Amino acid sequence: MPLLELDKIVMEFEIGSFGRKKKVRAVDNVSLSIDKGLIYGLVGESGSGKSTLGRVTLRLYKPVAGKVLFNGQDITRLPEGKIRPLRRRMQLIPQDPYGAVNPVQTIGEALSEPLIVHYGLEASEAMGQVKTMLENVGLTPAEDFINRKPFNLSGGQLQRAVIARAMLLKLEYIVADEPTSNLDASIRASIVKLLLDFKRKYDQSLQFITHDIVLLSLIADKIGVMHLAQLVEEGPSDEVIKNPLHPYTRALLSAIPLVSQELGFEKILLKGEIGDPANPPTGCRLHPRCPYASEKCAKEEPPFVEVGIGRKVKCWLYTKG
Ligand code: ADP
Ligand code: MG
Repeated sequence: MPLLELDKIVMEFEIGSFGRKKKVRAVDNVSLSIDKGLIYGLVGESGSGKSTLGRVTLRLYKPVAGKVLFNGQDITRLPEGKIRPLRRRMQLIPQDPYGAVNPVQTIGEALSEPLIVHYGLEASEAMGQVKTMLENVGLTPAEDFINRKPFNLSGGQLQRAVIARAMLLKLEYIVADEPTSNLDASIRASIVKLLLDFKRKYDQSLQFITHDIVLLSLIADKIGVMHLAQLVEEGPSDEVIKNPLHPYTRALLSAIPLVSQELGFEKILLKGEIGDPANPPTGCRLHPRCPYASEKCAKEEPPFVEVGIGRKVKCWLYTKG
């Protein structure tokens, strides 16, 4: 059974100032499911709606349409009070660790707080667990870290602390939203490994958001490709990587120097700039940039159809009718 299911999710934001307000549809009719104990990798260019989608799955945002199911329970319209108990079962690991903590709290305070709030632990008891967890994430000796403020830690150290804070709860589901893209390349791999170790240890489900499709090829079980608020391709990770169908997925892979030498398909370069999510192209949203676009692509939106077991694609090249 899936741990997390989205059914036809639509999420909109109002942008612009008074008198010139307009809506951006950041997620448009997206359905997906994340199985227990597996990693769902979400990839796409900046602005494609990945972060918004991730936040909807955690009910940090309430979608304007569609359903969010957690463990079979419809949590779409639960009031904040009923969502709060779920916060100890699902959490966000954001891109910027400095934005994820209160700058005036010490690391010890920041990490013990959720234990006190969610589990009612005494402060001293909570601090004991915090020290153990800090050691587990490699912030040793823990005594050196608990009294420091966030800005006295490096980005990599603070991201470890943020992961430690999440792991102190008995999480079943984590959204890791580009958790390493603000960090030095040299420490990215160790942060990803830390997340994977915890995932295995606690049998967690993970939604891993990134624009790095190569990383997903290494860690994800399933990959979903987002383009301008829509899922355009989905499937088992190795199949999507070895045999990408959508021109957009092919373009993402074509852009990677090492991979593109071994592509089993014609290299694709997209024309022009990424479209505007507030004003998406008609028909297939990729059509102004796609080398295969026909007249039909400009007029009619292709459906997201199943083209194999667990494989879906939203492109007229694979759809009759
Ligand atoms: P990604 O994570 O793939 O870069 P986002 O989900 O952050 O994409 O953004 C998708 C679209 O929604 C963008 O056009 C972005 O500007 C818009 N958006 C995201 N969050 C907000 C917000 N809080 N208010 C207004 N617009 C937003
Ligand atoms: Mg994002």
